[in-house]
Amino acid sequence: MNRQGPLDVGEEEGARLLTAAVDLVVQHAKEVADGPVAPHEPGTAWLREWLAGQDFEVARAPGEAMPEVMEALGRWGVHTTHPRYFGLFNPTPTWWGVAGELIAAAVNPQLAAYSHAPAAVEMERHVLRFMAGRLGLPATTEGAFTVGGAEANLTAVVVALTRAFATYPEQGLSGLPGRPVLYASAESHLAWLKIAHMTGLGRDAVRLVPSDSAHRMDLARLHEMHAADVAAGLRPFLLVGTAGTTAGGALDPLPELAARAREWELHFHVDAAWAGAVALSDTLRPLLTGIEAADSVTIDAHKWLSAPMGAGMFLTQHPAALLQSFHATTSYMPAETEDAPDPYATSVQWSRRFAGLKVFLALAIAGRPAYAEQLERDVHLGELLARRLSEDGWSRINDTPLPVICVAAPEAETGGHESSAGWHAAVADHVVSSGAAWLSTVLLAGRPALRLCITSHRTSPADIEAVVTALAEARKMTPIPTAKGHGR
Ligand SMILES: *Cc1c(COP(=O)(O)O)cnc(C)c1O
Repeated sequence: MNRQGPLDVGEEEGARLLTAAVDLVVQHAKEVADGPVAPHEPGTAWLREWLAGQDFEVARAPGEAMPEVMEALGRWGVHTTHPRYFGLFNPTPTWWGVAGELIAAAVNPQLAAYSHAPAAVEMERHVLRFMAGRLGLPATTEGAFTVGGAEANLTAVVVALTRAFATYPEQGLSGLPGRPVLYASAESHLAWLKIAHMTGLGRDAVRLVPSDSAHRMDLARLHEMHAADVAAGLRPFLLVGTAGTTAGGALDPLPELAARAREWELHFHVDAAWAGAVALSDTLRPLLTGIEAADSVTIDAHKWLSAPMGAGMFLTQHPAALLQSFHATTSYMPAETEDAPDPYATSVQWSRRFAGLKVFLALAIAGRPAYAEQLERDVHLGELLARRLSEDGWSRINDTPLPVICVAAPEAETGGHESSAGWHAAVADHVVSSGAAWLSTVLLAGRPALRLCITSHRTSPADIEAVVTALAEARKMTPIPTAKGHGR
């Protein structure tokens, strides 16, 4: 071996290292379902003591360092790859996606300039166009891979501002004739508040429109708020429809929102971070009707498309506005090509990893029909879970065909929201600390509930039974607060 320097350990050692890493993750996948979904406690003391011994001054054998890392990860964390993780849209990644991550990391193409990585850029564009086609967006649609939904939504705000106000690119917000405001439902993902903060709009610029009884944006309230803002001299520029809200899986009325946006000349963005995946199923795709009229769309492949973390997608019918938003000219970047814009000029990011490969490879190997079947299976498991919980006397409080189930125990609700919240939190704690399953608590229009989402392709009907049983036990063990206001 002709070593060039200490970091150059050569291909044979590289292969040994990767094989050992593969053995560890395969072992993890085999064993994870037999252990608790979550630890009893965060393990901070254990972790800090372990890390205190890692000063990086002495080289360590990979055969020591890697198993230690796996032990720490195995003991101290919620296992989103567990079949009884009924959690927050964090899927068990597919092996195809994991393989894509490995190849992207090892070949490490630089996706700032097209000319540096034409193969990678074209593969990403291919996936983005495929998704656009499934959503019914026009063939001229372009976009960008993002770290996730939050970055895709940030991209949407910048593109919408750029489209709405001719002076915005050069003069920013100070050049505008009135304060810009945007509309999203009260059930929308509150990354909008961070985005408003970051872009200088200010958090108050996010008009959270109350939702109706099904937790969809209330159109009458939207009308009132828009009219009041216009009368007050504000400048509405963006209307966001959420297709699949984070808490309860509500689908805003997209066709109506598209019509309002057209009438009021607002940029219409659909945040379909989680539920946008259903575009891959012919049966489920009609749930997204109206999305084809969107000026832009967010979809996270790392949610219901089961890609490993770090794969969001932003799509827009206005590629020129996207380019206008993020372009920059430098002396050091390679010259642009005619074939496609440079990714750094259509993205918040500059140097960028090949995030799209894990999506490309999974689609290429599994094929779209397998995804459709999985999505439909998840929906059926969600229906099974909803039915079993209802048979056990839980009240379903959300209304969606998507596999996220929010339930409350009627006997715990009589004392008001505060005691109900305490009781439902105690039940969730009981289940989670038993290790039997992971689920969360949620407020839907202020009403406390338990939230369970089908998110792992490893979840089986037996896992559904197990969580229903664990919930029944926790419910029995958790005393109902007696007098009003004395709950927890
Ligand atoms: C998860 C989610 C987001 C945020 O996406 P990240 O990938 O976590 O950045 C935005 N909107 C909705 C509807 C989501 O479900």
